[in-house]
Amino acid sequence: MGSFRFRSAAEPSHPRARDDRWTNSWTNWAGNVTSRPRATETPPDPMALTRIVDRAVASGDTIRVVGAGHSFTPAAATNGVQVSLDRLDELEIIAPIPGTDGECLVTVGAGIRLHALNELLAEHGLAMPNLGDIDQQSLAGALSTGTHGTGAALPGLAAQVHGMRILLASGSVIEVSQDQHPEVFQAARVSVGALGILLAVTIRCVPAFLLRARETTMQFDEVMEGLDEFADTNDHFEFFWFPGTQGTLTKFNNRVPEGTPTTVDSLNTAAAAAYSARSWLDDELLSNGLFQFTNSLSARVPQLTGPLNVVASKALSPREYVAPSHEVFVSPRRVRFIEMEYAVPRAALSDVLQELTTVANRRDLAIQFPVEVRFAAADDVWLSTAHERDSAYIAVHQYQHSPYREYFDAAEAIFRAAGGRPHWGKMHSLTRTELTDLYPRFEAFCTIREKLDPRGLFANFYTNQVFGKLT
Ligand SMILES: Cc1cc2nc3c(=O)[nH]c(=O)nc-3n(C[C@H](O)[C@H](O)[C@H](O)COP(=O)(O)OP(=O)(O)OC[C@H]3O[C@@H](n4cnc5c(N)ncnc54)[C@H](O)[C@@H]3O)c2cc1C
Repeated sequence: MGSFRFRSAAEPSHPRARDDRWTNSWTNWAGNVTSRPRATETPPDPMALTRIVDRAVASGDTIRVVGAGHSFTPAAATNGVQVSLDRLDELEIIAPIPGTDGECLVTVGAGIRLHALNELLAEHGLAMPNLGDIDQQSLAGALSTGTHGTGAALPGLAAQVHGMRILLASGSVIEVSQDQHPEVFQAARVSVGALGILLAVTIRCVPAFLLRARETTMQFDEVMEGLDEFADTNDHFEFFWFPGTQGTLTKFNNRVPEGTPTTVDSLNTAAAAAYSARSWLDDELLSNGLFQFTNSLSARVPQLTGPLNVVASKALSPREYVAPSHEVFVSPRRVRFIEMEYAVPRAALSDVLQELTTVANRRDLAIQFPVEVRFAAADDVWLSTAHERDSAYIAVHQYQHSPYREYFDAAEAIFRAAGGRPHWGKMHSLTRTELTDLYPRFEAFCTIREKLDPRGLFANFYTNQVFGKLT
């Protein structure tokens, strides 16, 4: 297998900055992973995909499915055949779950993007119970790396999966669920694309709901004191802390009980216009425009990072609004960054954060991006970062064009000392040896992989790192 190219912050990392030798190359969203697929395919249907798999098997090639390329790790990168399932994104069936209050099992093509899925669900009066903070990913990509949102009582996306249809290296297609191939099902819900190609996914959805969002700035010490209370008494609590300052932005999102008269439609026109103007001011101008400006400035003049962080931490105005859940969960993220995120046992969060401040506050590191803290309930998915333990997620970021290695290495040492598990789609340095100790079912996963894909048809540089090389 060919090699992947990782850029250091000193190299040009914007795709347009590439020289001619890389014009046919693929680059992820963050611009830190580049590969050169031998061929790219976007099959219109599963039959065409099967033929692509057959050809790759015959020629001894490797295959990697790419979703939206939003992983910071080379999870989707390949120098073999790169396949996009953008055209396998159709709704197959919506089946009400008997005995529930309107919950449904929804089967969709695995390539569907989350924003399209959210719209489709809304059209049918449904929603995902929880989501991450963007909606650009493909459903399969988000599941495969263990994507999660925040909510101490709510698990990540993979725990909402009821069944999957998978195209295997053998060319056969299997349906997996708790009842059909249950072990493969447990392994496939988070599999980093290493077991086969997900063709369709059945997810458990809930009736559409509104969220009341309250966003406000708070002092870091105040947040630390209220950490457990905030996480336990709100459906979805998260916060962003700006290194080198006491400033945080906290987000408290709570379900609006059904029947509450407050609805989006009930906002009068003037209030709706004011909301939309404020939303634009906060989401676009402050979160993206101003943030882009402060980041590029401090990338050029690192000494300005501290004062600029103070500005950034105070720029957002407190706001409260009610909107459909998927609109509240998701924000535009136009300023590109590099990210590492670890799930630590929830009980360790406070100590880990205190320790992290000693690193993130270091002036020489000039950290421009806030640290993000979220929560998730334990689940039973084998490679879920919240497998069998209530978890808190701590994410460190750095602006795309700034050095991040020293910061991430120091942060990773702190996360690892607390038994942290790295997000499969975000920067980390762990290999199979260390990961085996972090997941009770890790070796069981690797055994299933060896059985389903003995030759490594779906292997790449990253699966070799995390699961080991197949011979
Ligand atoms: C701005 C931004 C915000 C983010 N926010 C969050 C967040 O809130 N929470 C969170 O947990 N993560 C978050 N992430 C990480 C992101 O959700 C994951 O990296 C996710 O995998 C990206 O989905 P994708 O469609 O881009 O997948 P890709 O990165 O393209 O692929 C990811 C993996 O999925 C595999 N894959 C894709 N499709 C298939 C398929 N059909 N069958 C088998 N394997 C497949 C690929 O081979 C690869 O291994 C964020 C990332 C960015 C850049």
